Amino acid sequence: MNNLQRVFSEQAEKKAFDPAHRQTLRFNIGKYETAVKKGVLQYSHIENARRYAARQKEHCINNLEHHLITFESRFTARGGRVIWAHDAREAVTAIVKILKSHGVRNVVKSKSMITEELELNTVLQGNGISVLETDLGEYIVQLDNDRPYHIITPVMHKSKKDIAELFHAKFGLNPESTAEEITAFVRAKLREKFMQADAGITGANFLIADTGSVLLTENEGNGVMSVSWPRLHIAIAGIEKVIPSIRDLQVYLPLLATMGTGQKVTVYNSIISGPAKSKEPDGPAEMFVVLLDNGRTNLLAKPEQRSALRCIKCGACLNYCPVYKNIGGHAYGTTYSGPIGSIITPHLKGMEYKHLSFASSLCGKCSEVCPVKIPIHKILLLNRRDAVKEGFRTAQEKRVMTGYKMVMSRRRLLNRFSPGVKNLGLNLFFKKSWGSRRTLPHFDGPSFNQEYQKAKVKRLK
Ligand code: SF4
Repeated sequence: MNNLQRVFSEQAEKKAFDPAHRQTLRFNIGKYETAVKKGVLQYSHIENARRYAARQKEHCINNLEHHLITFESRFTARGGRVIWAHDAREAVTAIVKILKSHGVRNVVKSKSMITEELELNTVLQGNGISVLETDLGEYIVQLDNDRPYHIITPVMHKSKKDIAELFHAKFGLNPESTAEEITAFVRAKLREKFMQADAGITGANFLIADTGSVLLTENEGNGVMSVSWPRLHIAIAGIEKVIPSIRDLQVYLPLLATMGTGQKVTVYNSIISGPAKSKEPDGPAEMFVVLLDNGRTNLLAKPEQRSALRCIKCGACLNYCPVYKNIGGHAYGTTYSGPIGSIITPHLKGMEYKHLSFASSLCGKCSEVCPVKIPIHKILLLNRRDAVKEGFRTAQEKRVMTGYKMVMSRRRLLNRFSPGVKNLGLNLFFKKSWGSRRTLPHFDGPSFNQEYQKAKVKRLK
C-alpha cells in the first residue's frame, strides 16, 4: 500500500463514519436528485441526445489535433493569442509571465477546476499577485482556506448553518443570516473588486473550433463580469474541451445544465471570440487561451480508455456514486473526485493513483447517468488491468494473487482444504482489506461443490 492509498483509506473511513458529514451530503445531493428528475422531463427522449453527444465527442477526441489547430487559427485571426502548455509548470510559468508583463496586481477568477489542477492561486499569490474567487461557492472555499468538494458544487460539504457561521466569523454578519442575505453581501463586495481588477482568469467549458471562441457557462454572472471589466483575459482549457462547431452547443448546453443542476439551460452562456473590437464597449484589450495537456495525451494514447476525455464535467457521476455519497470529495486527495476523477487521475498523475480504480462498487450507475455515455465502470477495470501490467502491485499482492489463482482454478485442490484451513487463509490474507467494520465470511461444513457432487451421485443411483 503506497502512502497515497493509505491516506485515501484513512480519509474515506473518517468521512464515511462521520454522521454530520453524511447528513449534509445526503441533504445537498437529495436536492440535486430532485432537480435532475424534473430537468430531464424537458426531453422527450434524452437517450437520443446522449447518443448524439457521445458520438460527436468521440469523433472530436479522435480528431483532436485537427480541431485544436482550427481553433487556434480562427482565434488568433480574431486577435487572441494561444499558448500550448505541455504540463502544469509550463502553464503557470506562461501565465505568471503574461500577468507580470502587464503589471497585473489584482486578478478576479471565475470558477474553474483546471486552475485547481494547476494550483494557480498559490503560485500567483507567491508571485505577489492577489487572486479573488468570484463564484459564490469558490468564494466561500477561498474564505475558509478550503478546497472545492465537487466539480460543480464546491461547497457540497457545507450546510447553510456552516456558511452563515463562517461569514459571522470573517465579517461579523448575523450568524442566522439567510442564503439571500449572504449572497447580497458577497455581491456588493465583489462588484467593487471587479472594477479594480487588472485581469480576469477563467476556465472554458468548451472551445469552439469553427468560430475560434471560448464558451463560458455559469449561473451567477461572475464569469461575464470577470471577462468584461479587466483589460486582460486569460482562459485556461484542457485540450479535450474543443468541439468542432458552434452548432454542437445546442446539444451540449442543455445536457450539461440538465445533468449538472437540473436546469433547462444554465443562466449565463457567453461566447467570447477574442479581445474586444474597436467599437465594442466591453471586453478585454488582450485575450489569451492556454491549451493544457498535463497528461491528457497519455489518456488519448489509450484507445480503450480515451473516451474518458469526452467528459463535459457535469458532475452527475459524482452525485449518483454510492462511494462519493459516503466519502465525499476531499477523501480522494485529487483535483477531480468521484468516478470521473478515479478514471482520469491515474493517467493525468500516474498509476500511483491506481487505488482509485478500486474506490467503486462497480454498480455502473455512473455510466448510466453520464450524458456523454462514458463507460466509466469499464474504464475502472481497464485501469486496474493496466496498473498490474505496468507493475504497480506489491510483491505480497503478487504472491497472494498467484496462490489464489492456483487454488481457485483447481477444484479438487480446493475441496481438499477443510473449512478451518479456508477460514485461516481468509484471515491471513484478506482480513486487513476487508476492513475492521465488517465480519469476514465464514466457511462452514462441506462446500457447495461437495454437496452438489453428493446430490448428483444420489440422483444417478
Ligand atoms: S464523466 Fe460523465 S457524468 Fe461524470 S462529470 Fe463527466 S460528463 Fe458528467
